[in-house]
Amino acid sequence: MNDQTPAQYLRPAFLDGKAKGLLIDGQWVPAASGKTFATSNPATGEELATMAEAGAADVDRAVAAARRAFEGPWRKTKPFERQQLLLRLADLVERHFDELALLDTLDMGGPITRTKAGRRRAVGLLRFYAGLATTIHGQTIENSLPGEVFSYTLKEPVGVVGAIIPWNGPLGLSIWKIAPALASGCTIVLKPAEQASLSPLRLAELVMEAGFPPGVVNVVTGFGEAGATLAAHPGVDKIAFTGSTETGQAIIRASAGNIKRLSLELGGKSPDIVFADANLDEAVPGAAMAVFSNTGQICSAGTRLFVEKKIYEEFTHRVAEYGKTLKVGNGLDPQTQIGPVVSSGQLERVLGYLDVGQKEGATALSGGQRLRGGEYDQGYFVPPTVFANVSDGMTIAREEIFGPVISALPFEDMDDLVRRANDTPFGLGSGVWTRDVSKAHRMAAAIRAGTVWVNCYQAMDPAVPFGGYKMSGYGRESGVEHIEEFLNTKAVFVRT
Ligand code: NAD
Repeated sequence: MNDQTPAQYLRPAFLDGKAKGLLIDGQWVPAASGKTFATSNPATGEELATMAEAGAADVDRAVAAARRAFEGPWRKTKPFERQQLLLRLADLVERHFDELALLDTLDMGGPITRTKAGRRRAVGLLRFYAGLATTIHGQTIENSLPGEVFSYTLKEPVGVVGAIIPWNGPLGLSIWKIAPALASGCTIVLKPAEQASLSPLRLAELVMEAGFPPGVVNVVTGFGEAGATLAAHPGVDKIAFTGSTETGQAIIRASAGNIKRLSLELGGKSPDIVFADANLDEAVPGAAMAVFSNTGQICSAGTRLFVEKKIYEEFTHRVAEYGKTLKVGNGLDPQTQIGPVVSSGQLERVLGYLDVGQKEGATALSGGQRLRGGEYDQGYFVPPTVFANVSDGMTIAREEIFGPVISALPFEDMDDLVRRANDTPFGLGSGVWTRDVSKAHRMAAAIRAGTVWVNCYQAMDPAVPFGGYKMSGYGRESGVEHIEEFLNTKAVFVRT
């Protein structure tokens, strides 16, 4: 943050001590109940801001505003106008990106180098969907009906979208929902995660500054109950959800009342496979950061590390040693590579898995317990942990931990490897490290997951779809496919 003084660096102007409101119909308002909750820095425990706690009455108001906007001025906007507004928002996000990144670092603990590195993707998503706003089209379709009948399709926005997101990338996840929803002509009620809502609120200010009409984007901060109200609300046409598989299942049930459209980006336990012929100098940091980046709080993290038996010992030790070199600390320090986990609840969850792993017979080659002493006593710090002697049935090899924990499993036979890699209820990401191109293609075809990364991990692009198989969810985000999630297809027959 070379362009800012240290004081601004630690306390952006957005954190002005005033209670944050809900954005409903273009106005910042308190919750109808007057309820609030605090958001705090997971590195220090410092309270950052007071947030409005939305209840059912607030969700009702936000949905009504989104409906009015959808049926009013927004429905009449031309694609070119939506494109211009999204481009203006992209410019504003680019201009204010350091501040947005800083809010995420303070609110959810991500290292400032990492949150700032999200600039290209965040701005890129907005510009990509701005571009797509002018490309939405139906088709003319030849039919075989008797007589002269002309048939074609129209693409229409699904309507009011409820977007519910988790805390592990508040800004990026907000933009990932807002950009395609607005490009398609939908309106939106965004429910950020209770642990990290600051950057979504600042983003909402920029949405208003960009000139989007009131009610097109509404933000309701609060807890799971607000999300559940949105998921069950008869005035909502679609829910775009990112979060845990359990909550995804609750949303499916809640959405049944009016048969909402759903897209669900859920949890994962992704296999990352290292063959002995891989370039190990690249695979070691690659496999380590496939899990350790964002302190393991990434849905597609390659947490089941399958390593060919003849290099298993050497490779797992090298990954563990690499993990030990990573600087864990307060995300504001530009040297920090691994921040805290987001909350005391998440800390307890991760420590519980560290305990279970050791009780079930796994060996921690690195990490394995909470960091203590100095700054570590103030926040929720877990060191990069590599478990060896893991077997497929162990809890740490089956359940999503969402912390910086690798479970390393040896393999010998390739067919058996495929069976084992796919033996999980999840199917989000996967990795393959090899110099053998035919092995890479065979694995890419055999793994049942929405993404296969070969000799890399976590590569993402606005143009390339991302999403899950099996219990990692359905629907795709990014790419042209994402905009289809927000569109209905209408068939028209005209006897001429
Ligand atoms: P979570 O499911 O507990 O919460 C996510 C959001 O849902 C929050 O805003 C929360 O308030 C809300 N919510 C909670 N209960 C709800 C209910 N009954 N109805 C509607 N909304 C409700 O998830 P989390 O623990 O905050 O986040 C971690 C999870 O998110 C992990 O499982 C991770 O894999 C997943 N995730 C998935 C992706 C992806 O793209 N597939 C990306 C990031 C995170």
